[in-house]
Amino acid sequence: MHQPPIVTRFAPSPTGLLHLGHAHSALFGWKAARVAGGRFLLRIEDIDPVRCRPEFVAAIFEDLAWLGLEWESPVRVQSSHLADYAAALARLDAMGLLFPCFCTRKDIEAEINASGHAPHGPDGPVYPGLCRRLDPAQRAERLASGQPHAVRLDMAKAVDLVGQLDWRDQAAGIVAARPELFGDVVLARKDTPTSYHLAVTVDDALQGVNLVTRAADLFEATHVHRLLQELLGLPVPVWHHHRLLTDESGRRFAKRDRALTIASLRAAGHTPESVRDMAGFIP
Ligand code: GLU
Repeated sequence: MHQPPIVTRFAPSPTGLLHLGHAHSALFGWKAARVAGGRFLLRIEDIDPVRCRPEFVAAIFEDLAWLGLEWESPVRVQSSHLADYAAALARLDAMGLLFPCFCTRKDIEAEINASGHAPHGPDGPVYPGLCRRLDPAQRAERLASGQPHAVRLDMAKAVDLVGQLDWRDQAAGIVAARPELFGDVVLARKDTPTSYHLAVTVDDALQGVNLVTRAADLFEATHVHRLLQELLGLPVPVWHHHRLLTDESGRRFAKRDRALTIASLRAAGHTPESVRDMAGFIP
């Protein structure tokens, strides 16, 4: 039978310079496509208007090219595709699965403190449901007055609708999806009309990505992505969550650690080969 070619992607957010952990991730996806004779894509995930900067986008291109990676053009830049996320959101809304959330961080904290129990999800405290329980008239009034709001998924309703799902990870095997761990996830933020979970799901489908490779710190996020795929009728890829590269003391790399950015290693005279080696990819 004819197998479609493997399509992988590396999808960094331009909120800082790429470090060795990113190099590992990029090389992982690139190699997975290459050994299978497949395609490798680069996507710029720049939906955060405050933290993303054009100079970091330029640095991503420069650093990856210097490392010896090649990717297809044009590169998808999320901020140029907000209409695609709006369309997905409208579809979920038509299914009655969304609600506007006017809460501030403070409102949420106060409610959690008052309720005396605070379940924690992979993205932080689980939303206590204040705006889900809003009286419809009050909700309409607040919307009409233009009060800023995020848009959340009614998780219990969504899970009820699709039932138990699973997904396949090349490293972990078949995984039972547990999106309920997240509670009512945000699908559109107050400051930007989408969220990481929505944009990544829509884009992987639109771009035909059928092998999602990324670090193990995003393993849990896949529960939500699998649910969104089901709700939106999107194709389901295979995942490979690879190990999270750490520094010598076992700490994960962070964008704030300047020393191990690809740019600083290059400036210190390292070759692309030696940086690929440090990132766990010996040629
Ligand atoms: N943009 C995300 C990040 O930089 C990665 C998205 C993904 O691979 O799913 O953490």
